[in-house]
Amino acid sequence: MPVAADAAQAGETEGELYRHRSARPTGSKKGKTPPKSRTLPAADAVAQSLAALDWLRGRGARQIYFKYCSTFDSTGRGNIGPVADALLDALGESFTVACPAFPENGRTIYNGHLFVGAALLSDSPMRHHPLTPMTDANLVRVLERQSRRKVGLTRHGVVRRGAGAIRADFRRLRAEGCGYAVVDALADEDLLAIGAACAELRLVTAGSGIALGLPQNFYAAGLMQPRGDAAALPEVGGKPAVLAGSCSAATRAQVAAMAVRHPAVKLDPLAGADAGELAARALAAMAAPLERGDPFLIYSSTEPDQVREVQRRLGLERAAALVEETLARIAHELVGRGVRRLVVAGGETSGAVVSALGVRALAIGPPIDPGVPRTLALGEPRVALALKSGNFGAPDFFDKALAMLP
Ligand code: ADP
Repeated sequence: MPVAADAAQAGETEGELYRHRSARPTGSKKGKTPPKSRTLPAADAVAQSLAALDWLRGRGARQIYFKYCSTFDSTGRGNIGPVADALLDALGESFTVACPAFPENGRTIYNGHLFVGAALLSDSPMRHHPLTPMTDANLVRVLERQSRRKVGLTRHGVVRRGAGAIRADFRRLRAEGCGYAVVDALADEDLLAIGAACAELRLVTAGSGIALGLPQNFYAAGLMQPRGDAAALPEVGGKPAVLAGSCSAATRAQVAAMAVRHPAVKLDPLAGADAGELAARALAAMAAPLERGDPFLIYSSTEPDQVREVQRRLGLERAAALVEETLARIAHELVGRGVRRLVVAGGETSGAVVSALGVRALAIGPPIDPGVPRTLALGEPRVALALKSGNFGAPDFFDKALAMLP
């Protein structure tokens, strides 16, 4: 989903900022947040993203940031290529970057190949992802399969020479007819240089990394001023809970670590129950810690061979929908029973949970671990959320997040 890179205009009060954030993009269904665009059918992802673009442009956004996973989660059909193509077309632009790098979390790009730690993406646990298994680490090739445009590469030898050299390379690629530059990045200093080189692009497509370099462009243009208190969140308090729907390796380690220290219950999608029944059983199993206000964990996270078995028996989409709907119902019920500090593991899972809670705007606070901030759902009731991408965070993340949520 695109977001505006210049939403925080200089001089806005916090209240004004929150009002902007909580207004709903056009095209979304009444009372629901817009669905996440990673795994929708490509045509729906394009339509949702164009609706968000319209909404942002209608409010004066100058630069649009199409943010995707740092592991470039997608399939041969999309949705990164189709959405980026459609955004370029709608903006009347012919060129942008593609850079999922997030060095602090071990996602680096070299010669157009995405690494997760020391492993190529295609050798990392992402090759087993339930919805978007990534079996090719060559991002030029991956994006070319999904896009109508030619894809080029800005190599690290150029990136390390700084923003001017990167801009010159973008001109070369444009002249060669490329619509995208996959950009190598090995460290935060590379992201800062790439961010500076993107100052004039109306569309940026990337993981969250490049955003590191963008505020400086707005400061330099006099459009924004640094604010020391931007990440401050008010205290929320209330009962804690953890929900995990990610089957990623990092989440499975976090689940194992939490389950030895706190009450935990695992959902069984093959139990023959529907989402309502599965949710009711899990909630009954956790009734005592919920009543006491002690931390507990409800999870569906499981090993890749078990995911394959569930998908074989139920079908991929039904399996995902059953688990997501169950966790979404549980989240709704938990908030109804006084939970106000909620940790959610998994991108799709987080999308399902925030939809079920009717969250339309989040205030972003300081990080818990790299790439996972504390957030506060605005609206009533106020719920502190840690929405964690499946593969992020150290093994002790759940306890740490509960301790750090306001
Ligand atoms: P991540 O951030 O690791 O990609 P997501 O929540 O985005 O995690 O995706 C995990 C997907 O796997 C979800 O669609 C979820 O419904 C599905 N899933 C979770 N647990 C199971 C399970 N036990 N069997 C089959 N699919 C599952």
